[in-house]
Amino acid sequence: MEIAKIFDQTVDIYQEFLLLTNNGSSLESSYQELNDKYRIHSQKKAIICECCGQPVALVLREGAPHFRHQGEPCPSQENYKRYTTGTRGGESANHKAGLAILRTYLEGQLKPHKISVQNGYMCKKALKMVPDFLLNFPDGTIWAVDYITGIREEESYNNYIAKRTETYKTAGFTPFYFIDSSWMANVPDRSVISLFRAEQQIKLRSEIDLQWTEFVKEFVEVFGEAFVLQKLFGISSQPIAGRELKEYLVYSLTYIDPGAGKAYIQRFIPTQQSKFGLQVYRAEISLERATSLDQKQQGFTWWEREELTAMQLQMQTLSQQFEVAVTVEAALIAEEVLEQTRLSELLMIQQEKIKKKITIHNETPVVYDPELASKLFSAEINSMINIDMNPSYARQILAAIKQNKSILSDERLIQIRNQARFVLGPIKNPNPLTPSLRSLLIDIAMA
Ligand SMILES: [Zn+2]
Repeated sequence: MEIAKIFDQTVDIYQEFLLLTNNGSSLESSYQELNDKYRIHSQKKAIICECCGQPVALVLREGAPHFRHQGEPCPSQENYKRYTTGTRGGESANHKAGLAILRTYLEGQLKPHKISVQNGYMCKKALKMVPDFLLNFPDGTIWAVDYITGIREEESYNNYIAKRTETYKTAGFTPFYFIDSSWMANVPDRSVISLFRAEQQIKLRSEIDLQWTEFVKEFVEVFGEAFVLQKLFGISSQPIAGRELKEYLVYSLTYIDPGAGKAYIQRFIPTQQSKFGLQVYRAEISLERATSLDQKQQGFTWWEREELTAMQLQMQTLSQQFEVAVTVEAALIAEEVLEQTRLSELLMIQQEKIKKKITIHNETPVVYDPELASKLFSAEINSMINIDMNPSYARQILAAIKQNKSILSDERLIQIRNQARFVLGPIKNPNPLTPSLRSLLIDIAMA
């Protein structure tokens, strides 16, 4: 084991070893330093097991530094063996380093409540499953805390997580899992996460999750499921919607990044394909907060301080999007009506002109500047047709177009028409133009 007692102090030999190597000490000199510091006490049998009180021997160089029992069997010895071998194997130095940080945070937050943080294997009774930490409350309540780092998809590992939870509960412990943040996985371009079976098995339904559930249900009632799926999760169809989705049950998982001192509370709705969850909200909180107790001391404060506000904001955002969607739809309908009106107006103007042409046979042909003809083919279009043009110039352009229409390219013609439409302005909000210019531009637009 890594922990033992010398006089009135607890020694965590592995943590000391980590500290030395992290500060740039070589393996050799780190071992030497620990040897100089503790060997003599070990020889004097002055280092004892916190669990059974028997002397333990200092072991260096064999894997990682630790203490070894010599005399009578001790529960912690068994626990330690279970803890370090078997199903738990494969968890790395990374896990140990993260654990050391997590322990520091837990101790900092729990000491004021007189709750002790104990290495799981130090439990005075032999455990079938050994957690990373046991939190001992003054009233005898015990929580089991695990920091999960090993990424393993095998069935055995997943079964083992479920079994672990069960075993803890049978032993009278309340289990809490902190998952390494490297497990967090977002599906690209969707508000969807993917999950290991282990994650599905340890998901929680906290009081905040219940509130989120109510919120999502309300979203769906107000805006309809299709809209909520689209806007909240980026999903357009709903083949993934399962029974649970219909009830919009929100669950959560807690991830930590010990090195960065951060934690993430991931709230999601499991989908029928249980490998996925719809991401409802991801709260980023400090590791300090994630290791603090809630007021009732029934769990950790695994929520954001302003999370209720975040819910309200999401509701507001959805409402705005919903209004925009409704407005856009209404505008599209209005535009169609306007377009119809405009077409019939244009038709009337044309018809009137035809009538005029019939009555005034001797309409004088418009004479235009020959330079204008060449401009028609190559000039910057907006230097020719713009809001400041005068009606007589517009009339000349129209005449030039009519005369040259057969040799103008389609592209150029479209360009000219579009420019005329642009100068006319949007249908709903036309540019201020004199009626005569307006009428000429309409002719150009339809030339
Ligand atoms: Zn012992």
